[in-house]
Amino acid sequence: MPAAQLGRGRPRLTERYREFLPLTDSTPVLTLGEGFTPLVRLGRIGQDLGLANLYAKVEGQNPTGSFKDRGMVVAVSKALEAGARALICASTGNTSASAAAYGAAAGLEVVVVLPRGQIAAGKLLQAQVTGARVVAVEGNFDLALRVVRELAESASHPITLVNSVNPFRLEGQKTAAFEVCDDLGRAPEILAIPVGNAGNISAYWAGFRDYQAAGLSAGLPRMFGFQAAGAAPIVLGHRVEAPETIASAIRIGDPASWTKATAARDESDGLIEAVSDDEILAAWRDLARLEGIFCEPSSAASLAGIRRLSNEGRLERDATTVCVLTGSGLKDPTTAAASVGELLVAEPTAAAVTAILGW
Ligand SMILES: *Cc1c(COP(=O)(O)O)cnc(C)c1O
Repeated sequence: MPAAQLGRGRPRLTERYREFLPLTDSTPVLTLGEGFTPLVRLGRIGQDLGLANLYAKVEGQNPTGSFKDRGMVVAVSKALEAGARALICASTGNTSASAAAYGAAAGLEVVVVLPRGQIAAGKLLQAQVTGARVVAVEGNFDLALRVVRELAESASHPITLVNSVNPFRLEGQKTAAFEVCDDLGRAPEILAIPVGNAGNISAYWAGFRDYQAAGLSAGLPRMFGFQAAGAAPIVLGHRVEAPETIASAIRIGDPASWTKATAARDESDGLIEAVSDDEILAAWRDLARLEGIFCEPSSAASLAGIRRLSNEGRLERDATTVCVLTGSGLKDPTTAAASVGELLVAEPTAAAVTAILGW
C-alpha cells in the first residue's frame, strides 16, 4: 500500500499533485504542511456588489502565512536534491520568511537581501527568528534582486537562488490553481490576483491549463491581475524606478515574470489594471469587517480590482469569481494598528464595562 494511504489524515501537497510537479524518487521529502488552503465564499461583500458567486482563496493559511510556501517547498526540495548548501533570495518580505523556514527545516544556510526599511515587521521577524542571515540594502526590491542574482551566479559554494526566477517556485505555485478547481468542481470564470513580481499570476495560469489538459477540470478562467497604482509597470508599459504603495508585497517596479504575466493576460482574455492604495485599504478593511478574513493589505488588491470592475458594470453578475488573498494580516501589524481605534479601558466590573460600551 502506498505510504500516502496508510494514515487517514490529509496527504502532503507534493504527494497530492505529484504528477504535475518536477519531483523524482531522489528528491528529498520536505514539508511544513503547505497548501490545502480554504476557498471561502464572500457572502456579504458579494451581496453588496451583486455578485452571487464571489470567493476568496485564503493563502494566508499556509505555514509561513503566504502562498510563497507552495513554491518554496518544491524549490528547496530540488535544491537539496542538487546538493545545495545555502539558499539566497531578495524579498519584499514573504519570500524571505518562507525561504528561512524551509531552509531551517532542510538544514541549509539562508541569506536574504531586503530593501532597508520596507519590510513589514512580521515578515522580517519570521526570517530572523528562523535563523536566516538578513542583509538590508539601501534601495528597492528590484535592486536587491539584481544583487542576489549576481551573487548566485558568482558564488564559489553551491548556493541556490529561490526567488520566483527559480522555475521550481512557479511549478509549486501551480498547486493553488489545482485546489481551486478541485473545490469548485471546475475552473472559475474569473481569477483575480495581486501582481508584484508577476510570478503567481503566471503560475496560476499554467496550473489551470495543466489541469484542463489532464482532463481534471473544465473551462479556463479569465486572469485579472491587479497592481498598485504607484507600482504598476505592466499597466504603464514601462519600468517604474521608484515604486511606492502601502501594499509592500507588490511594491515592485520591474517584474521578473513580466512577459509570462502579459501572456497569461492575453491568452485568457484577461486584464491587468491598477488599483489605488485607498481602494486596496477599503477592500482590506471590508474583508476583515464583513467577512472575518484578516489578510495583508497587498492581498486585498484582488478584491479592490473586482470591486472597481463591478462598480463600472464590467462584470457578469453570476460569473464564478475567485479573489486570491495572498498573505496573512498578521504579517503587517503596523498598517493594521494605524487603522483601528483606541482600546477601551475599564475597571473590572460589569457596570464599568457596560458604561464604556454605552449599553
Ligand atoms: C509575493 C506576494 C505577492 C506578489 O506575488 P508575485 O508572484 O510577486 O506577483 C502578492 N501578495 C503577497 C502577500 C505576496 O507575498
